[in-house]
Amino acid sequence: MVSIMEIYQLLPKLNCKECEKPTCMAFANSLLSGESVLEDCPPLYRNEYESQLERLSTMLAPVKDAAETGLIVHDELCFGCGNCVVACPVNVANDPHGAAVGLAPSNDKVILAVVNGVVTVANVSECRRFGKNRILCDVCIVTCPSKAIEFV
Ligand code: SF4
Ligand code: SF4
Ligand code: SF4
Repeated sequence: MVSIMEIYQLLPKLNCKECEKPTCMAFANSLLSGESVLEDCPPLYRNEYESQLERLSTMLAPVKDAAETGLIVHDELCFGCGNCVVACPVNVANDPHGAAVGLAPSNDKVILAVVNGVVTVANVSECRRFGKNRILCDVCIVTCPSKAIEFV
């Protein structure tokens, strides 16, 4: 997980408030939570900060992806074991004869599926953490041996 300090170190550190945050540190926190985007900091787009902008864009890509869902998979940590796929209660309910028993999905209702050796995420509106009957399900997280899944 990216830390606020790592983000802060790459910001212009001008505390100019153009981002409508009181300090660059506050903006770093807002970036990490997905509330703000890099474009909200105009000074960062000056030539002198080009390399920092590039590094921040790479660093924050997973957070950006998670804006809608909060669920991110760190691809570099996932080795495709499929633990999360068979453990997810929504997968079990929606695809009892496919993903839930370690086979290829038999329909398109699954949330987690291993594709080309890495877990992919779909149908996130079905996830128990985000659906209408929201609960703090963490089955996929705790069953992952490499801590590749995270909610931000
Ligand atoms: S606009 Fe950028 S440089 Fe200015 S306070 Fe916000 S984060 Fe810092
Ligand atoms: S949090 Fe629960 S419902 Fe959501 S993807 Fe993970 S295991 Fe499935
Ligand atoms: S449990 Fe972790 S390592 Fe295994 S497939 Fe799921 S995310 Fe990847």
